[in-house]
Order: sequence, then structure tokens, then C-alpha cells
Amino acid sequence: MTTTDSAQTGVAAANIGVVGLAVMGANLARNLASREGNTVAVFNRSPERTRTLVSEHPEAGFVPSETIADFAASLQRPRTAIIMVQAGAGTDAVIDQLTEVFEPGDIIVDGGNALFTDTIRREAAVRAKGLHFVGAGISGGEEGALNGPSIMPGGPAESYETLGPILESIAARAPEDGSPCVTHIGTDGAGHFVKMVHNGIEYADMQLIGEAYDLLRRVGGLSPEQIADVFTEWNKGELESYLIEITAEVLRQVDAETGKPFVDIILDRAGMKGTGTWTVQNALSLGIPVSGIGEAVFARGVSGRVEQREAVRPTITARPEPAKVDESFVEDVRRALYSSKVIAYAQGFDLILGGAEEYNWEINPGAVAKIWRAGCIIRARFLNRIAEAYDRNPRLQSLIADPYFAGEVAEGDAAWRRVVAIAAQSGVPAPAFGATLSYYDSLASDRLPAALIQGQRDFFGAHTYGRVDRPGVFHTNWSGDRNEVEQ
Ligand code: NAP
Repeated sequence: MTTTDSAQTGVAAANIGVVGLAVMGANLARNLASREGNTVAVFNRSPERTRTLVSEHPEAGFVPSETIADFAASLQRPRTAIIMVQAGAGTDAVIDQLTEVFEPGDIIVDGGNALFTDTIRREAAVRAKGLHFVGAGISGGEEGALNGPSIMPGGPAESYETLGPILESIAARAPEDGSPCVTHIGTDGAGHFVKMVHNGIEYADMQLIGEAYDLLRRVGGLSPEQIADVFTEWNKGELESYLIEITAEVLRQVDAETGKPFVDIILDRAGMKGTGTWTVQNALSLGIPVSGIGEAVFARGVSGRVEQREAVRPTITARPEPAKVDESFVEDVRRALYSSKVIAYAQGFDLILGGAEEYNWEINPGAVAKIWRAGCIIRARFLNRIAEAYDRNPRLQSLIADPYFAGEVAEGDAAWRRVVAIAAQSGVPAPAFGATLSYYDSLASDRLPAALIQGQRDFFGAHTYGRVDRPGVFHTNWSGDRNEVEQ
């Protein structure tokens, strides 16, 4: 049926629609169309994209429209449309158009990478018009959109009754039990919040892998190809994950033009699109330490400050020699990588739970770990362990308070410290390894120098302090007789 047919006859042929047919939207629409029982309506601002998609994929049986009114008319009630457009103003523009032509009870889903506070605002505005709005984080890139992403929908729980089965049909399936990698995360912006933290964890994971590679190369003296072998080996154990797997692929690649390792011909400036920065900004606002993620975002920042790097490098003439290591270094680095990764994930889950508390979402952290087991960039065997930890104790204070993770990190303790010390001795930057170890040591310490900081704050600003030996709020009269007064 053509657009005009659909509009003229008023036949609502599709049970789901997609607005925005760039790479993500087109692939998601194809994924939806490939599932039994779905007929997919498609619409894009520039109609050429719609025409191209429909002509390239006749097998999908798309119902195309060239106006938003025709698009609405082509959808069965209650209408359900997934927006996959450029996040920000594009999303607002499409929501405005859809709310004009949709009716109470219809569902608008934003599958773009929206900032969760925008999702909270949009959900309230759309709800005021009697429609449902679901902000759904979708991870897995274009390949995931086509073959099965991990999906993190927020919004009202009732909309999940309609939307859930559709999303479950297109989501990735966990290899362990075949369950779909989608769950209702929580109300309004919860889905996009969790997607944001997913991306923050992804930054940390990638930075830690980068540091492991750098140490194996610059201290261990291994070639990129040898390190690819190491990563392939690591991918058979606890570290098994998509990111470890693709790291081996990238390291094994040889540049066709120069014959050099591919990794040596890429500019060492890491790009970023902003979700890592959002994660850290929100963690700072909520007062939740996510130092592993923070260092990963900062490390990308350092890499991009090319002029500064070039100005400083010649001024630092005395550089340390790499420490002498033996073959046990590879296993030490593996251990350090695993321990640091545990901490980075522990911090990410702290942030999810901190966000849940702040915004009144009932987020089940174990369910989040489960839907990250396939489809998304941080998919990993290790996520089963996290799900199990939260199954054992849903009120877990930190992942490293769980006996399994506590045991793993304790077992790798000496190796982790050796690696961080060797990095410092050798002048090889390992900010995420170092920050995660310091965080661990902070949690493990009986006393922290925060006591001294409280003394300083009281000295210069009369900010008061508590005492270890009795309750109350105290101030010392620093500029006078230095006697203590209870406030
Ligand atoms: P994109 O490059 O982010 O956006 C292009 C699409 O947005 C086009 O369909 C474009 O329409 C539409 N658009 C932009 N401004 C618009 C406006 N004012 N009104 C209506 N439509 C507008 O596309 P993408 O890479 O496919 O990503 C789509 C969404 O998925 C984004 O939010 C992105 O952040 C998110 N996402 C992407 C990935 C990924 O790996 N790429 C992964 C997860 C999530 P025209 O054709 O008319 O220009």
C-alpha cells in the first residue's frame, strides 16, 4: 500500500511506526519488520530517505508515509511510534509533530540518546496531553539495532504492557538463558539515565583496556600482534566480553598502505559524543564517586589537547626507563584489569542506585545487569556475576561488598598494586587503574584523612565537625582560646 492509499482509505495497516530513518532508525525498522506479526510504518523528515529504505528492502513490507498525518493514519490504535532522530532539537520537533496527530492513549517512544532530564521534561509534557511517552535507551550501535539491541525503556509502567512484547521481540537474547535484553527500567527518565551510565561504564571499560595494552606494550615489550593473542586468551576467562574481543581484532589489524600495525597509524586522539561527560556531571551533582569513569573521560580529554601535549613534551626531558618485568607481568595486568573493571562497574551501579533514589525510580540493579548481557557494547560474561550478586542481596551497598567480588579483588590485590606501581615507576599513564585502586583503598581504610579536612574546614570557615567519641556538632575557637564548643 502506498502512502496515498493508506491516507485515502483510512486503513491503519501498521502496528508500530518508526520516525527517523538514518542508520539507527532504518535498522531498527528492518529488525521490527523481520519479526512475526509486525507491520512497520516508516516516516522521515526528508522523504528521499523513506523512499530509499522502502525500495532497498521490499521484503520488509514497510508502510511508508510522506506526511506525519499519513503516518498517524497508517498506525493501528493505540498508536505506537519509535523516534530515532538526532537527539536534542530534532527529538522535540518530532514530538511536537506527533502530538498534533496522535490521540490520548497513543505511545511515543524516543529511542535516541536523549539526556534523561530532557526525557523527564518531555514525559511530563506529553502526559499532559493524555499520551504516553517512553524514553528508551538503545545500545549496540547500528548492528545491534538491526540484529538485536539491549533496550532500556523508561516511562509509565502501563505503556510497557503494549510496548514490552514488541521490544522483547527485537531485543538481543542473553546467551545464558535466552531471555530478551529489555526490561522496564522505571518511570519517566529512568531508561535514559541507565543508558547514560551504560555509556559511562563503556568509557571506563575501554580506558582500562587501553591502559592494559599500553603497559603490555611499553613495559612488557610485546608487539600489537602478541598483545592481540593475549587478549584473545583473556577472552576465554572472566574477562570475556565484546570489548576484549574487538580489542584483539583491532590490534591484529595491519595497515594495508604502510604494512605497520593499524594501531600505530591511528591518531592518538580519542573522540567523544558526550554521554561519558553527562555521566560524570550527574555523578558529581549526586555526590557519587565514579572515579574510574571520570578518569576515562579525562583521559580522552588529555588525548585531544594536542597543542598542550606538544608544548609540554619537550620540556620533560628526564623520563624513567620502563621497569624490568618477567612473563608474570601479563597475568598481573590481567588481574589488575579485572579488579579495576569490578570497581568501575561498582561505581556505575552506585550511580544508577543514587539516581534511582534522587528521582524516585524503582530500579532493579540485577535486572539491569541481565539486560546488558547481550546486544550492548559492554556485554560481558561478568554481568552474570553482577546479576547473581544482586540476587543474593538486593540491598548490596557496593559490588565489592559481595563475597564473590570481594574474594576476586582480594585474590588479585598484590598483582593490582604491582601493576599500578610499575606504571608509575615506568612513566606509563594508568589513570583509571590508579583511581580505581585508590577508591578501593579508600573503602577499605579504617580512617580517612577526611578527619583532617574537617579540622581545616572548621579552622578557616567554622564549618564544625563531629567527634568519634560522642554524638553532636562541635567547633573549636581557633582564633581565640582554642577551646571546643558544642553547637
Ligand atoms: P542521526 O545522524 O543522529 O540523526 C539523523 C536523523 O535525524 C535523520 O533521520 C534526520 O532526518 C533526523 N532529524 C534530524 N533533525 C531533525 C528534525 N529537526 N526533525 C525531524 N528529523 C530530524 O541518526 P542515527 O545515527 O541513526 O541516530 C539516531 C538516534 O539514535 C540518535 O539520537 C543517536 O544518538 C541514537 N543512537 C545512535 C547510535 C549509533 O551507533 N549511531 C547508537 C545508539 C543510539 P533527515 O533525514 O531529514 O535529515
